Amino acid sequence: MTPIQPIRGTRDLIGEDIRRHRQVIETARRITETYGFEEWVTPIFEDTRVFSRTLGDTSDVVTKEMYTFADRSGESLTLRPEATAGICRALVSNGLTQSLPQKIFFSGPMFRYERPQKGRYRQFHQIDIELIGRSHPLADAEVIACGFAILEALGVAGEIVLEINTLGDTESRNAYRAALVSYFAAHRDALSVESRARLERNPLRILDSKEPADQEILAEAPAIGPHLTANAAAFYEGVKEGLTRFGVPFRENPRIVRGLDYYSHTAFEFVTTHLGAQGTVMAGGRYDGLVAEMGGPPTPAVGWAAGIERLAMLLTEAPPALRPVAVVPVSAAVEAASVDILRRLRAAGIRAEMEYQGNLRRRMERANRIGARAAVILGEDDMARGAVQLKDLASGAQEEVPVMELVGRLL
Ligand code: ATP
Ligand code: MG
Repeated sequence: MTPIQPIRGTRDLIGEDIRRHRQVIETARRITETYGFEEWVTPIFEDTRVFSRTLGDTSDVVTKEMYTFADRSGESLTLRPEATAGICRALVSNGLTQSLPQKIFFSGPMFRYERPQKGRYRQFHQIDIELIGRSHPLADAEVIACGFAILEALGVAGEIVLEINTLGDTESRNAYRAALVSYFAAHRDALSVESRARLERNPLRILDSKEPADQEILAEAPAIGPHLTANAAAFYEGVKEGLTRFGVPFRENPRIVRGLDYYSHTAFEFVTTHLGAQGTVMAGGRYDGLVAEMGGPPTPAVGWAAGIERLAMLLTEAPPALRPVAVVPVSAAVEAASVDILRRLRAAGIRAEMEYQGNLRRRMERANRIGARAAVILGEDDMARGAVQLKDLASGAQEEVPVMELVGRLL
């Protein structure tokens, strides 16, 4: 029978891949905890409206990338393409909109129907934090600083640059949109087909275009700066000042607009040149309108998401697998006593394996093959003395150790 293939754009995480993946999640979990974030887990699928209402009708995610299907009762469900909308839905569903701030850490799989390539998959994974209920610019700075601290703890911060921008408040954005429309309209014929469509529906998105045809026009496009209201400009200054206080280096990039509709004020991306075209590793911003879109009260919020696969690729080395201790009974007569020792080691938190097939030579070969750091060899004479032979598999040195002292020697 022909073997069944994995779904295009999905990956199995095995061996080094899952160790890298876990390293990212565990580091993020540890750092976000020190910043006061609590972990939430929300469902992998949601009512389609959770995303269609909030991400914007013109976003790539909603128009081209969602895995949407009718379940057996005919309800339209969507495999989550991102975390923020589901978290805001959960905030409202659980009546937490009056218990603010909420600081949330999240990690899990996401689904987008995209063209698979290195660093771009149809099932991928994100870590994500959200700070909901704070409108002070220090909230933005703290959220970004937490992301930076994770990149530092992973040892990848040196290859990554933080780029920030502001999208202003509604008034600033309306003025900016008008300026962009008149600029792009003057260059309409030179724009890519996609960008021409965006010109009517969402001109800000053109700034996000990766089409080669658009790049020259984009280079001369107006920036938002002159269109910011005094409030929006002051907010942006506050964020930059906060970043400096938190010791986070950044570069301003007026091109950063983010792909989703719900952002206002701060927008940022941590980018690298080490991952080819998939250079954005962590991205986010302020989204003061989203909780209200979900049926809650107007609630300020700021957050980011990062691709675990992209971060995992940047780790210079995979964390090593934990090396076990091999328990090796010499004969069937000592098997029961060996199981006792095995249980004792495991109960003490020591990774331990028992070799129970083949002759002694075979058992020792296998202990070496699984990368054991030591072998606990038990013979009938040893058992009678209440001792084992402890062999260091790197040096070959062997000595007799009383069973009662074994755990202490291996911890
Ligand atoms: P891109 O411009 O690369 O498509 P995006 O703007 O769609 O990214 P976000 O929605 O902001 O990405 O998601 C946050 C992060 O999740 C990205 O910066 C990236 O690291 C990761 N990511 C997004 N889509 C994918 C994917 N298909 N495969 C792997 N990682 C992804
Ligand atoms: Mg995308």
